[in-house]
Amino acid sequence: MPVGLFTHPATWQHLGPAAHPERPARATAAVDGVEDSGLEVVRRVPDAVDLGLLGTVHDPGYIRDIAAFCDEGGGFLDPDTYAGPATWEAALRAAGAGVDAVRLLDEGFGGPAFCVVRPPGHHAEPDRAMGFCIFNNIAVAAHTLVERGRRVAIVDWDVHHGNGTQHRFYTDPRLLYVSLHQFPFYPGTGWEDETGAEAGEGFTVNVPLPSGSGGGDYREAFRRIVVPVLQEFGPEWILVSAGYDAHRTDPLASMRLDAEDYGAMAAALRLTVPPERVVFLFEGGYDLAAIRTSVAATLRGLAEGPSTGFLGGDASPEAAAMIERVVERQSRWWSVG
Ligand SMILES: [Zn+2]
Repeated sequence: MPVGLFTHPATWQHLGPAAHPERPARATAAVDGVEDSGLEVVRRVPDAVDLGLLGTVHDPGYIRDIAAFCDEGGGFLDPDTYAGPATWEAALRAAGAGVDAVRLLDEGFGGPAFCVVRPPGHHAEPDRAMGFCIFNNIAVAAHTLVERGRRVAIVDWDVHHGNGTQHRFYTDPRLLYVSLHQFPFYPGTGWEDETGAEAGEGFTVNVPLPSGSGGGDYREAFRRIVVPVLQEFGPEWILVSAGYDAHRTDPLASMRLDAEDYGAMAAALRLTVPPERVVFLFEGGYDLAAIRTSVAATLRGLAEGPSTGFLGGDASPEAAAMIERVVERQSRWWSVG
């Protein structure tokens, strides 16, 4: 099976202070992981996103401000989030990558796509950069599908809650947003009772997990919640906010996933859609070795599909209690139990 690898040289030119964890070597590790997967790698260079399309997710004034800020040399947009002279190009290509990946797969490519992009996107709000993110790359790609009447699910397994993505689709029943994240933790959103609003009520599924959660906890959350809800929603496409900062060696967070757990989660997506309808967008992950092995395991897991007994695990009492609360909440809309 082929995998479309979307990267642009500007990805490596988005530069912050030397000690900043969100650094270009992360992208190299992710590319190495794609190469290690054993899939036939087809490299593509994403176009810069159309500014009108970007304007469906971000305020035009904010987009202009980012362009001017980068043009003037950049600096910090918030205490965590930097931009430099090359960031504008990198951010436009990052926001365009998912759009191009969806188009490639829609044309009959026959495999998944992995977008190795920087800056990441899932924290970016309509008018605000935050959490290393400037434009919400996955929301832009999802918007192009939703606009065409396609059913889309976003699965966000980055260790942080994707506040920007949730916000963008919070009242929209055409898109299902599912996030598993460490909680309480940055950015502070993602409570289990954040479930969507208005017409979108029930189409946001948050699974906040306690610090220290590992593979057994995530697999149990997939068995009880993620897989049943995905299957009932019935998306044609799944876009993944593929962060790798829930790995046990990640320096910024406190979860305990191993590379194989990412493979199991990716494999589980095949219970809902075929691999040629899955697009991964790189988000967080700050341990280079963990990124490489976990990206490779993700693609291998998706290619191989679920094996018997891979779902469900020995959840800790704390995680099991939280999973139970999410099940109770989501049972208002979905056949979970
Ligand atoms: Zn993260």
